[in-house]
Amino acid sequence: MNPDVVIELLGVTMEYPGGVHALRAVDLRVEAGELVAIAGPSGSGKSTLLHLIGTLDRPTAGTVRIAGHDVAALTDRELSALRARRIGFVFQQFHLADGVSALDNVADGLLYAGVPRRERRERAAEALKRVGLGHRVTHRPSRLSGGERQRVAVARAVVGEPALLLADEPTGNLDTGSGAEVLSILRELNAAGTTVAIITHDHDVAEAAPRRIRLRDGRVVADEISNVAVRA
Ligand code: ADP
Repeated sequence: MNPDVVIELLGVTMEYPGGVHALRAVDLRVEAGELVAIAGPSGSGKSTLLHLIGTLDRPTAGTVRIAGHDVAALTDRELSALRARRIGFVFQQFHLADGVSALDNVADGLLYAGVPRRERRERAAEALKRVGLGHRVTHRPSRLSGGERQRVAVARAVVGEPALLLADEPTGNLDTGSGAEVLSILRELNAAGTTVAIITHDHDVAEAAPRRIRLRDGRVVADEISNVAVRA
């Protein structure tokens, strides 16, 4: 087993009750350090794929391996641990708690990793600095712009230094300028070593990624890699 393969899907099929085939025999391999956009029209299976890669769901057939772990072989408890330690999530709708500060929202990203409170807050402050929000730590999400909220959500996703960052339409609720800022932060995190997968139906977002996987009707119909330096 190659530990540098972060995502490995073999013959993955997902059939929902009622006979909807959301994914059909998908094979996909993403190595450590890649930045991948997963694109395709509405209903093509993008969210289903994200749920499977995020170990939030199990396929009806096929194998899903994340960071070398076969998801089918893990108990629910082991899966939660894998998710807490290895995967960061960013959603279109931010999913921040409005009752608490940006700092506490980010610190909560470490709750399930068993990090003591004081260290959680120190690391949260660092993560907020990384996304350019060192001056907004005490603000509640409702006092922040959409772009700033999404940057808080990115900080929360990466505060535990996950191997894999999964972003589901991260720019879907943002104006062009804020969207570009969030994308540039995702690119910086990728350059610093995090494997990043971005689900998007936005053509421009997909085009900006070095690798683009296109889904249609639950199948991978294209897997393009830009002509950039290939890693040794
Ligand atoms: P996308 O994210 O590309 O819009 P989805 O993965 O959400 O695509 O959906 C793929 C297909 O699976 C669609 O036909 C959708 O209606 C169906 N689907 C998604 N989730 C469910 C579900 N929980 N139950 C039944 N069908 C679903």
